[in-house]
Amino acid sequence: MFNFIPSLLPSVQAVRRIFSMAKPQVIFVLGGPGAGKGTQCAKIVEKFGYVHLSAGDLLRKEKNTPDSKVGQLIANYIKEGKIVPVKITCGLLEKAMNETMEETNGEKYKFLIDGFPRNKDNLDGWNDAMNDKVDLKFVLFFDCPESVCTTRILERGQTSGRTDDNADSLKKRFNTYATETKPIIDHYGESGKVRKIAADHDPETVFQETSKYFQ
Ligand code: UDP
Ligand code: MG
Repeated sequence: MFNFIPSLLPSVQAVRRIFSMAKPQVIFVLGGPGAGKGTQCAKIVEKFGYVHLSAGDLLRKEKNTPDSKVGQLIANYIKEGKIVPVKITCGLLEKAMNETMEETNGEKYKFLIDGFPRNKDNLDGWNDAMNDKVDLKFVLFFDCPESVCTTRILERGQTSGRTDDNADSLKKRFNTYATETKPIIDHYGESGKVRKIAADHDPETVFQETSKYFQ
């Protein structure tokens, strides 16, 4: 009579697991191209156990996926230093967070989202889709002069293999950063969410300052 119960068991367990999972915690990591976001994120992962999700890396991975419907679109946007429509980026971020949470039974739930949100479209799309699902802790802002960033990126360009680490794309990326991303950082600043770090020093020095926000 109750032989239908065993077939229900797995889903009961799954539901339990989902309810026991904490809401994902998110820190946005912003700053111009070459400000050191990726470098500092790697250090934060190592010392404070966060999961690093680079929006740019996720987009590059999708771009290189053979049957991707949006691969060519992403390639064009990246080369031009333009910002990919939020549906694509936000979708990739949410998928990566969910996969991490599921694979670790909810043990890994603290995420550094690097290089996002970069414009108003990103911000609005994220808020619509994710506001209720995550707990946004703060925004880390690596502040670095354009001249320092340029030197770093052109050096990285010699080995990175990235289609946008050249003087031409870089100019466009800086322009996008100044006109579209900086206003987003300012927007978060108005609600006291921004933790600003002077990033024109060596990685260790910058990390000392970064660490303060994680103690
Ligand atoms: N990009 C995007 N949306 C994002 C993140 C990246 O469209 O949320 C694209 C954009 O064209 C950007 C490029 O990916 O110029 C490289 O981004 P990445 O974050 O890797 O560069 P970084 O700023 O770290 O040098
Ligand atoms: Mg990066």
